[in-house]
Amino acid sequence: MKRFLYASAGLALSIALVGCGKNGVEGDSATLSQADLATLDEINASIILDRNLTTAEKSALASDWRRMKTLTPNSAASTSYSGSLGTAVDNAYASLFGSKSATVIDYIKTRLKYFGSVETDFGFGRPDKNTVAVNYSIFYWVDGMLSAANPASPSPIGTPEGRNLTNDSARVGIIQFGEYFSDSTDGLFRIGTVAHEARHSDCPSGISAAQLGQIRNDTSNFFDYIGNCAFPHAKCPAGHQLAGIAACDSGDGWGAYSVEVAFFGRVYDQCSTGKIACTESEVQAALASLNDNLNRIIKKSQMMNNTLGLPVMTHQGYTH
Ligand SMILES: [Zn+2]
Repeated sequence: MKRFLYASAGLALSIALVGCGKNGVEGDSATLSQADLATLDEINASIILDRNLTTAEKSALASDWRRMKTLTPNSAASTSYSGSLGTAVDNAYASLFGSKSATVIDYIKTRLKYFGSVETDFGFGRPDKNTVAVNYSIFYWVDGMLSAANPASPSPIGTPEGRNLTNDSARVGIIQFGEYFSDSTDGLFRIGTVAHEARHSDCPSGISAAQLGQIRNDTSNFFDYIGNCAFPHAKCPAGHQLAGIAACDSGDGWGAYSVEVAFFGRVYDQCSTGKIACTESEVQAALASLNDNLNRIIKKSQMMNNTLGLPVMTHQGYTH
C-alpha cells in the first residue's frame, strides 16, 4: 500500500488547513535550481503550492512537472500488448486525458487545486511513511455542504497562502504528499500517483439532497452513502494478495487504479518502442507499475479483453 484516499475512517466535521508555521520559501533557492523555481511558479499559477512544501517535495514536483510535459505520446496505437489490452489502454487514455497524444497535465489541473506538504497538519493525522499522496477533496466538499445554509454553494476555503478555493464539488482537489513522495526516486511512479489522486476528485453522479441527509444522520458511515463519488477504493477479493484491504478498483467506470493502468500502459508502450525518449529504468518502472495496477483491477479480464467499456467522464456537484 503506497497511497490511501482517505486518512480517517469517518467524516471530519472540523477540518482546516493549518500550517505548522514553518516557512519553506526562503533559503530554498540555495538548493533548488532556477529551472525548478520557474517550474514551481508555473505550477503555482494553477495549483496552489503549500508554503510548507519541503525542498525535497519542491524538487520532486518541479522535475515531475517538466517530465509530464515531455510525456507526449505520438498518436499511433499501442503495439506492445497481446490481445486487446493495447486497444483498451489507448481508448481509456484518450477518454481520460483528452486524446491518445495528450499529456496528463490538463487532467491534473482540472482536478487538483492544492499540493500540500507532509509537514502540514490537515487535521487527518500525518500520512504514514509509505504514503505517496492523499486526496481530501470529498471530505472538504461534503463538510462544506453540511455547514452551508445552501449546500449548493458552500463557502470557499481560504488557504494559508491567502488564496481561495471554490468548494462546490469534489474537484476542490486538495492533496497532501506523504513521506514516500519525496523519498521515491521514481518520477513516473509519482506522476502516475498524482493522476490516480486526481481521479478521486471526480464525482460522476454528484451527491443528492437525499444522500447528504443520510450522511448528516450517520457521518461515521460516510462511505455507505456516496456511491461512486470520488471513486473510493474497493476491497481486494479473496485470493488476492491484498484480500480484504481497500487497495483495489472495481473497474466500473475506471477508478483511480484504472487511471494508472491507462497512464502506465500508454507510457510503457511509447517508451518501449522509442516513440518517447525514456531511460531504461523508466521503461522498467512503467512496466512494473502497469502490472501492479492491473492486478488491482477486480475486472481485470474485462479490462484486458476490452469489454469493460470506456471511463466514465461525467462529473457533478450537489444535485437536488
Ligand atoms: Zn486512491
